[in-house]
Amino acid sequence: MPATLPPGLSAAAFSQALAGFRQAVGKTYVYADETALSSYLDPYSTTEDAAHTPAAAVAPHSVEEIQAVLKVAREYGIPLWPVSTGKNYAYGGPAPRKSGYVVLDLARMNRIIEVNARDGYAVVEPGVSYFDLYRYLKEHDIPLWIDCAAPGWGSVLGNLLDHGAGYTPYGEHLTMQCGMQVVLADGTVVDTATGALPGARASQLYKWGAGPWIDGLFTQSGLGIVTRLGVWLMPEPPGYRPFMVTFPDEDALHDLTEAIRPLKLNMVIPNGATSVELLWEAATRVTKAQYYGGKGPLPPSVRRKLMADLDIGAWNFYAALYGPPPMIERSWSVVRDALGKVKGARFYTDRPGDTAWEYRAKLMRGIPNMTEYSLMNWIGSGAHIDFSPMSAPTGDDAVRLYHLIKDKVEARGFDYIGEFLIGWRDQHHIFMLIFDRTDPQERERAHQVFGEIVADAAAQGFGEYRTHLDFMDQIAATYDWNDHALRRLNERVRDALDPGGIMAPGKMGVWPRRMRA
Ligand code: ADP
Repeated sequence: MPATLPPGLSAAAFSQALAGFRQAVGKTYVYADETALSSYLDPYSTTEDAAHTPAAAVAPHSVEEIQAVLKVAREYGIPLWPVSTGKNYAYGGPAPRKSGYVVLDLARMNRIIEVNARDGYAVVEPGVSYFDLYRYLKEHDIPLWIDCAAPGWGSVLGNLLDHGAGYTPYGEHLTMQCGMQVVLADGTVVDTATGALPGARASQLYKWGAGPWIDGLFTQSGLGIVTRLGVWLMPEPPGYRPFMVTFPDEDALHDLTEAIRPLKLNMVIPNGATSVELLWEAATRVTKAQYYGGKGPLPPSVRRKLMADLDIGAWNFYAALYGPPPMIERSWSVVRDALGKVKGARFYTDRPGDTAWEYRAKLMRGIPNMTEYSLMNWIGSGAHIDFSPMSAPTGDDAVRLYHLIKDKVEARGFDYIGEFLIGWRDQHHIFMLIFDRTDPQERERAHQVFGEIVADAAAQGFGEYRTHLDFMDQIAATYDWNDHALRRLNERVRDALDPGGIMAPGKMGVWPRRMRA
């Protein structure tokens, strides 16, 4: 019997529920002992594991098995926490919002249901990783590219549902979603949008169907269990030119961002345009200890040495051009003109032997890899949680956010490791708060400073797009216009669709009635 029980359930009742789960999915696929459950903890938690320890994990293999699991969960009032591959590290990994939930592990549902080479899309189940889909396309010689998150082991479907982003022109994953199948709390299976028409010929081509578009309701919510997803794939272009531009001055961030905006809005640069700060760039190649024996952030002299040794800038801009070679040449001259006006710009279209360049050049053409994980080696036993506020793609916003975060975290002894990514209109800022996961005091300090920058950013109009389990309530509370009208609407929808309150309670700060304070 597991040490952790679902909220309000006796050991005897949970034992009956486990028997029900075993009947639903087979006893091999119900995990309730401590060793098996340890793989469902958050490896990068800033709090004690006890805050997010599942009571069990259940791994169904089909929609019918999910329906049977739901029946048991409804009967006993057990909260479920669906994960696809559970690689959502920095935001909680596979761990549930609260202890005592049962993780619904969908990794065994890993079929690639369809790839349409002519129309450029795939239909996948939750357990299909970026590596899986990439290999499938290669093996079948299909000239389509995927768009992957930086670590390629995650789920195509799971990352998209959590509003993840990548680095090709198809980098905003939810924008490229078309059609989904979802199982509701009561077991009803729904094909959304165009797919609701029997025999529909455009299920994966026309996103909106007829009537209200409800697909968004099942993203960042756990309000339904998504079992299939259509996702557009980019036809392999006839030409590809990745490039990098380095800028030696910290202050270049302002002018660089101003120069990128028109290139993005006019689609001269079609992909996720990324300005990477010095340490993010350096940390995939060297460790902090190689350069600095002291505590706290690096002094300016060490930063200058890093730049010289690695031939990188204080800011390092990555983007790529795609298409027929003559079009690439034209765009390239526009890009060179625009970015060349920013002080100190140095252009590269290849950097042999530079691991950071190599993985970025892969990401911008959708080749999954795991290089970014080596960032955790920057400090020994490194872990991270990510702070991800959204802003306008302006120099002023970039500089404000940069200082808001950097000045505070450096004062608390952490390094600023960040990047800015301009999509269609918005600017994502990703600040990776790296801490030593074996040092309880450092973890606690990381937790505290994270909460503070959430509040500071919200006070200046910067809201997060996604967050770690521990900060979901705090961040939901910052979206509070008109006396939390949005949260109250979300609660009404949740109560209607999931009256028993079993579907990922508390995901992104939305709680079912029975668990609201
Ligand atoms: P990845 O492994 O790609 O990072 P995860 O499997 O960790 O993605 O999923 C990210 C988040 O998305 C989960 O924490 C969960 O809240 C939600 N999620 C994942 N899969 C599903 C699903 N099939 N149905 C509903 N929500 C899901």
